[in-house]
Amino acid sequence: MLQAIHSPTGRNISCKNWETEALFRLLLNSLDPRVAENSEELIVYGGKGKAARNKRSLEVIIRELQQLDEDHTLLIQSGKPVAVFRTFPFSPRVLSSTAMVVPKWANDDYFNMLEKKGLTMYGQATAASWAYIGVQGVLQATFETMSEIANRHFAGTLKGKLVVTSGLGGMGSAQPLSVKMNGGVCIIVEMDEAKIKKRLVNNYCDMKVHSLDQALKLAYEAMSMGRPLAIALQGNAADIYCEMVDKGVTPHIVTDQTAVHDLLNGYIPSGLTLDQASFLRNKKPEKYLEMAAETVIAHVKAMCKLQERGAIVFDYGNNIRGQANKAGFERAFTFPGFISEYLRPLYCEGRGPCRWIALSGDPGDIYKLDEAVLSTFRSDERICRWIKFVQEKIYFYGLPARTCWLDYNERRQIGELINNMVASGELSAPVAITRDHSEGSTMAAPTRETEGLLDGSDAVSDWPILNALMNASNGAAMVSIQHGGGVGIGNSIHSGMTAVADGSLAALKKLSNLLTIDPGLNIIRHADAGYLKANQKVHELGLKKPL
Ligand code: NAD
Repeated sequence: MLQAIHSPTGRNISCKNWETEALFRLLLNSLDPRVAENSEELIVYGGKGKAARNKRSLEVIIRELQQLDEDHTLLIQSGKPVAVFRTFPFSPRVLSSTAMVVPKWANDDYFNMLEKKGLTMYGQATAASWAYIGVQGVLQATFETMSEIANRHFAGTLKGKLVVTSGLGGMGSAQPLSVKMNGGVCIIVEMDEAKIKKRLVNNYCDMKVHSLDQALKLAYEAMSMGRPLAIALQGNAADIYCEMVDKGVTPHIVTDQTAVHDLLNGYIPSGLTLDQASFLRNKKPEKYLEMAAETVIAHVKAMCKLQERGAIVFDYGNNIRGQANKAGFERAFTFPGFISEYLRPLYCEGRGPCRWIALSGDPGDIYKLDEAVLSTFRSDERICRWIKFVQEKIYFYGLPARTCWLDYNERRQIGELINNMVASGELSAPVAITRDHSEGSTMAAPTRETEGLLDGSDAVSDWPILNALMNASNGAAMVSIQHGGGVGIGNSIHSGMTAVADGSLAALKKLSNLLTIDPGLNIIRHADAGYLKANQKVHELGLKKPL
């Protein structure tokens, strides 16, 4: 039987080489109770995003990783280890495909039936690719979004501004801290008291209240003094948003990050306590879905009303507009998605979310890397501001890690830098380098990453597959393709990759290719869709784009 799950740390390894050891440690780290949202159920984050199909699969994956030779590759089919093949030392050690279904059958009902039969699993994005590092993983994207809003609408700061949002889950918790990082005040609505407590302990929120009136009183006080504040409000998001409409309250910014992409498992209908929701979900799922559909319509109608009154409103990547639209609210797409509105310009530059994880478990390794990053990229104000901020605000749980949005040249540099520091012994053990799936070319999602593309290619999902094939051909330690992350089944196809800097020459060669594939393809995908900035980058970097 599995004991409480924690990644091993230090220099001694139980797998046959560091590449496999890295994947073994990342898998266990993503399931560590301090990192995962529900370790017992193998749920990492994002509704029911899992790292392994079930406990038996997890045990066998661990056993196989520990036995895997340097010329073998383990295949994972939706969280279940299904084969080990002889390959090459240069090949990936793990290849994984999760939640893939033939498009005609790619809907919640069919998927849930397959899942119930034990034939598949939902893997979100970084859950099934074992690259989850807790809230920090999405913090910079959330920070960048809030900064972009501040720059565009509020002269560069959210000081004295009110943001109302919801969902203090694995991803959603990045919101209050990101608002504070930009000087603003955040009221975040969450049903689950346990989640609120967790975020209070980890400093993602400052206080908890039980009513909108209490929350507003505290928010207005802080706003009038220009003081950043994060208030967790226990309640149902849809109810609170409707209450704001009724009371004539219009925040400056309104969004939502409940796990509404999965109405049955990630979203709580109005009128139910958590226990009642859990009971109804199991006993009468049809009734639950009916209530959730009514709630999401009210929720999105309230968001549209707040937008009419002048609030900046956007979908924060959870498909809330799609769910309300499907439930019958035709005007659900009145407000935009956060990527098309705020992050696409960064994708056109090839900037995206890179992360590195100290396999030693020693925070000192990350701090040394912080210093190296600050010195190497000292002229990049954005990177320096970010590293200094997270050094001060984020403390580690699970394996220490850092995330940082880097562009094409910066990513090549960081790979070389890390590998050299491992080789020279400056770092106490190898480092895993991985990323979110939300990279531009690595996720096709017509209501998120690829919403409203200039050439209308929103639903074309060749790009993430090409990305995965390229990463596998260039020796990533793990490559995964997945379906449904972020926005739910039928709504996205995406890919993940993990590389390992073990200090060897082979790792250096792999990294210099691997770390340019994501940003390079990101630029090319956007150039192909007609973005001028991306086309300029193609020329500037000398990328080859034959047509
Ligand atoms: P999670 O499952 O860890 O947390 C969701 C939270 O929402 C839970 O704490 C739950 O109690 C709360 N909740 C559900 N219904 C509620 C309601 N009606 N009122 C108040 N609280 C309610 O999910 P997560 O990992 O935080 O992800 C949230 C959503 O964001 C998901 O849909 C996910 O796919 C999406 N996502 C967004 C990004 C991004 O960059 N914006 C990235 C990845 C995922």
